[in-house]
Amino acid sequence: MAKFAINLKEGNIEKESELIVGIDLGTTNSLVAYMKEGQAVAVKDESGKSTLVPSIIHFTPDQNVIVGDEAREKLATDPTNTIYSVKRLMGKSYKDIKQVEQYFGYRIIDEDTDSLVKIRVKDKFFTPIELSAEILKTLKRRIETELGETISKAVITVPAYFNDAQRQATRDAGKLAGLDVLRIVNEPTAASLAYGIGLHPDDNEVAAVYDLGGGTFDISILQIHNGIFEVLSTHGDTFLGGDDFDRAIVDFWLQQQDTGQVSSSQSLRLLAEQAKKHLSQHESYENTLDGITYAITRAQFEALAQPLVDRTLASCRRALADAKLKPEQIEKVILVGGATRVPLVKKAVSEFFEREVFDKLNPDETVALGAAIQADILAGNQKDLLLLDITPLSLGIETMGGLMDVIIPRNTKVPAKVGRRYTTSIDGQRNLKVAVYQGERDLVEHNRKLGEFILKGIPPMPAGLPKIEIHFIINADGILQVKAQELRSNVEQSIDVLPQYGISEEEMGRMLLESIQHAQEDMARRALLEARNEANNIILSADKFVQQHAAILSPEEIEITRALTSDLRVAVAGTDKDVINKAMEDLNAYTSPLAHRAMDTAIADAIKGISF
Ligand code: AMP
Repeated sequence: MAKFAINLKEGNIEKESELIVGIDLGTTNSLVAYMKEGQAVAVKDESGKSTLVPSIIHFTPDQNVIVGDEAREKLATDPTNTIYSVKRLMGKSYKDIKQVEQYFGYRIIDEDTDSLVKIRVKDKFFTPIELSAEILKTLKRRIETELGETISKAVITVPAYFNDAQRQATRDAGKLAGLDVLRIVNEPTAASLAYGIGLHPDDNEVAAVYDLGGGTFDISILQIHNGIFEVLSTHGDTFLGGDDFDRAIVDFWLQQQDTGQVSSSQSLRLLAEQAKKHLSQHESYENTLDGITYAITRAQFEALAQPLVDRTLASCRRALADAKLKPEQIEKVILVGGATRVPLVKKAVSEFFEREVFDKLNPDETVALGAAIQADILAGNQKDLLLLDITPLSLGIETMGGLMDVIIPRNTKVPAKVGRRYTTSIDGQRNLKVAVYQGERDLVEHNRKLGEFILKGIPPMPAGLPKIEIHFIINADGILQVKAQELRSNVEQSIDVLPQYGISEEEMGRMLLESIQHAQEDMARRALLEARNEANNIILSADKFVQQHAAILSPEEIEITRALTSDLRVAVAGTDKDVINKAMEDLNAYTSPLAHRAMDTAIADAIKGISF
């Protein structure tokens, strides 16, 4: 179904496309891609030259915003009004970035160390979200110009190690740019998809994604199974990339110049980058700048680059150790990021993992192309494919005695919908509290509360009679909706909860670890609470039974039943589940024949009432 949007500025009606685009919002460069005739393609600028939009934002003297190549030109001439690497600040507080503040050429504001950072440009303050939104707006305009349609839906990629605050910030940036962000996808997952790895539901592989960009290095180890991409480990260096290769060349040239005469540092850096790129294809490079000749051979460059490449391999070793894998257990190795074009990098990575690497796609575009494929899957255009996200922690509700009743277990694929039937525990109960928790522990007090609501207006009925259905529905966006409905009366209530918001990856890890460490003690407590719950129900039924059927019971039977019930009460007050279970068995064994007799009498009475 096509949607239409009214452009208020121009007063015309525009067709809103159903297309979902893929966006790589990078530290150095960003790209937008989409599926064109079944093929993922990255969108070029108007001149048709480049698919990359430098992730740089410049504020002109009259406060206009320019993004991309034009903004990059201002880096040297107007650094305080030119913002780069804003991705490094997403979801961060001033405390987080204090040690690396000097890296940024613009002003980062520290008014409150715990709140999220702001960037000062002239007398205005901007959040990294607003600045990222400017980059996204540029990408949105680029694809809208290409297609002649309004685009409003996107998938955006983020590094696998991004925590929840960083992911949420990215999502918010999308919203601010007028994009409905249907999914935040891990960059290594997108890179795998771009190579078709994991595209078939029965693909089962372990892949390594080696991503060396301009300023950052990431290695991610992924387990791909049944269309689920699980990040086994990540490692990297947030300040290591192709720019360091350029710097090494600059230093090399400066050492060779014995006279004091040197070219300006910015133009020398650009020349070094040109040399590095040239050496990816040729054996030597030579050029003159300000009358000075600068030359370097590939062998010389490789000697300079080797220590940097070794640092990336050390990260790979750590990532493998964390994933408890050996290099030869990695079945697919994917290269991403412009700096992996350096032949030395390809060779070193291939030797390290002892296999050929995937490097046929343009390494700058790989992630964006994968994002476009993911978007296409979400749009439902690839029929046989599963959706790829999973719930990181179990979701459930609190039941009697503070127990966690898991409704959607961790690692469940989303979207997911699960329903379960509950009932009341007290006669005439009119309200039921539904408290939603996330976590792996048996007791809700150890898990994280996501929200609660009260199902009100249940018609009064004896305990156990109402049929209350609770549904957990997680949509593809990761939003959980919890619905409760009493089926006899159709009373209904529901809430929306964000299952992951506010949980960092460390916190998630801690919760999982604790669940393992406390598993035994939790199990014992769970068994005790379950025994208590069951015993309380039996006590209630026994009391009711004696009241209702006193006429057919002997005084001795009533006395023994009361005594056994009272023993059970004493057991429930204690902490030994075996004692409770034994007391329950004793009471059950004694009252069972009495219950049968009561039933027979009831049937006989009923038959008596019927005249033949
Ligand atoms: P990215 O952040 O992925 O866009 O990577 C940009 C980095 O890749 C920069 O350091 C570029 O200098 C580097 N790069 C781009 N093209 C080449 C090339 N042909 N050879 C070596 N490095 C390159």
